[in-house]
Amino acid sequence: MFHAFLIKYAEIGIKGKNRYLFEDALVDHIRRALKSAEGSFQVSKEQGRIYVFPQGEYDYEETVEILQRVFGIAAICPVVMAEDRGYEQLAADVVQYIREVYPDCRETFKVCARRARKSYPMNSMELNRELGGAILEACPDMKVDVHHPDIWLTVEVRQKIYIYSREIPGPGGMPVGTNGSAMLLLSGGIDSPVAGYMIAKRGVKIDAVYFHAPPYTSDRAKQKVVDLARLVARYSGPIRLHVVNFTDIQLAIYEKCPHDELTIIMRRYMMKIAEKMAEQDGSLGLITGESIGQVASQTIHSLACTNEVCTMPVFRPLIGFDKQEIVDIALKIGTYETSVLPYEDCCTIFVAKHPVTKPNLNVIRHSEEKLADCIDGLLEEAIRTAEVIVAE
Ligand code: ATP
Ligand code: MG
Repeated sequence: MFHAFLIKYAEIGIKGKNRYLFEDALVDHIRRALKSAEGSFQVSKEQGRIYVFPQGEYDYEETVEILQRVFGIAAICPVVMAEDRGYEQLAADVVQYIREVYPDCRETFKVCARRARKSYPMNSMELNRELGGAILEACPDMKVDVHHPDIWLTVEVRQKIYIYSREIPGPGGMPVGTNGSAMLLLSGGIDSPVAGYMIAKRGVKIDAVYFHAPPYTSDRAKQKVVDLARLVARYSGPIRLHVVNFTDIQLAIYEKCPHDELTIIMRRYMMKIAEKMAEQDGSLGLITGESIGQVASQTIHSLACTNEVCTMPVFRPLIGFDKQEIVDIALKIGTYETSVLPYEDCCTIFVAKHPVTKPNLNVIRHSEEKLADCIDGLLEEAIRTAEVIVAE
């Protein structure tokens, strides 16, 4: 029954002179997202508002679901559009709308008419009063409540008449790409896809890097990360996933460094490589799924040690989250089920039984000196041979 969707946006409305850039980006993202939907759509910006007009047949549920993944959308209002065929017909259309959308006809309501077409013979006050009366007459169990109505019914008189009341929540945030780009360290776990989602939500375009260690980690583990990148890309748009072969670096660390420091040293080299790739891609920051104290490599001492190798800002959106809070978001965005598939991430031989939880930076640096003869070549080789997969 709905002929259009009015797109409401929150924060992008307050960006002053740059507002049009945010709006145009949002229009582009809506168009791109709807390409995967059944049917065709016209997306347009009119008087500071964005509308989506389905052209002919379309799938309502699917369309709403897609729009709910476009960052920058605060709410989606399904609109009934009626031809202007005089007031009597308008009153009938409004009553029919109420009956169809609220079949109980018991709610409280308030009519909020707007006369965008000034030549319309009734003003908005008159429309509010008359339409309110028509609804009360048709639905005697409904009541007017001007302060806290259940239904806030908007009737906009334009070339056609737009009737809407329902607001379906969007994902919020800002259009991707309006806030630069960053490189996500994406593993097969629960946390990093959520971290990528959260930063993309703030308008940041994301690329990703995954470290694998064949033959210790399998092709299926890699495929799982590609799948996760695709799931995040449903929100963020296409992600260029760099797959880095980390095996030789891990073996060198395993051979030459104390085993209780393995994870920290490994994480430091991951960050170094990620930073190099971010620079190459024009990204301005790194993103990880770390959260204080979650594992030995994420105590505040460990994080300080890991952080020390980068000069780029490292965004850790989950830093203060409990695991359950992260799981809740993973469930909401649809990455959880893939994340918990059992394919190994780092091979267990590379994990120490008793990793340090309070690494000392000087000690770590000293251990890393043992890699001095080979590490530069290995890092260069890892970066040079990285495979790029576009996840979309
Ligand atoms: P996740 O659930 O995201 O895998 P985790 O709890 O397993 O996190 P760690 O293994 O300590 O935690 O990893 C911390 C962060 O380091 C991850 O969130 C991710 O950003 C990055 N990371 C870890 N392993 C890899 C990897 N193999 N490739 C790319 N990034 C990784
Ligand atoms: Mg992990």
